[in-house]
Amino acid sequence: MQKILIIEDEPGIADNLIYALKTEQFDVQWDRLAEEGFKKLTDWSPDLLILDVGLPDTNGFELCKRIRKISQVPIIFLTARTEEVDRIVGLEIGGDDYVTKPFSPREVVARVKVILRRSSGASNTVNVEEHGFVVEEEKARISYEGKILELTRYEYLLLKTLLSQPERVFSRAQLMDRVWTEPTGSFERSVDTHIKTLRSKLRDVDENLNPIKTHRGLGYSCTLG
Ligand code: CA
Repeated sequence: MQKILIIEDEPGIADNLIYALKTEQFDVQWDRLAEEGFKKLTDWSPDLLILDVGLPDTNGFELCKRIRKISQVPIIFLTARTEEVDRIVGLEIGGDDYVTKPFSPREVVARVKVILRRSSGASNTVNVEEHGFVVEEEKARISYEGKILELTRYEYLLLKTLLSQPERVFSRAQLMDRVWTEPTGSFERSVDTHIKTLRSKLRDVDENLNPIKTHRGLGYSCTLG
């Protein structure tokens, strides 16, 4: 059974979602507050998160940014105001989809299924270790074919993020969100600069190793095999 965590402070909305998801055989848990939900994310490791933007203790966007530093769990935002959609899409908070209230629970369930299919497909088709990469999070290092890459903190975090979802195109803003803990001035250029040094270090261990692709106007992806 796939596990869905709902973080939503309105019991009526949560109840409808829980009912619709359970009908479709999902294992569902629900929290009203961001803090409780964040804790459950690590304790229970859901397959997908449904996250309300307007929560009593913190904003869903802020919570999403915190989550993205530790997890790539798919996130569907619930938003009451259409103007927030611009933030979700425009600011590239790191969510995967959004639904505006009022919505039909069936619509949410349909989106949950699409996203889970997409994310399980991605992780099944590409195993980074089959392609020579080993990410050791506890040692904060990445090796290729047994050779440890000498990476700075930002280069390590960039490569780890790209390898977490091979083929996925990350925009510079998304990479920024996941990698940089302090704001910097011209962030797009700092992403580009670190990608450049990262590429040259990858070539140092193997001259044909060039997995990071540039997608003009969109961002970067890691393409293996
Ligand atoms: Ca709310």
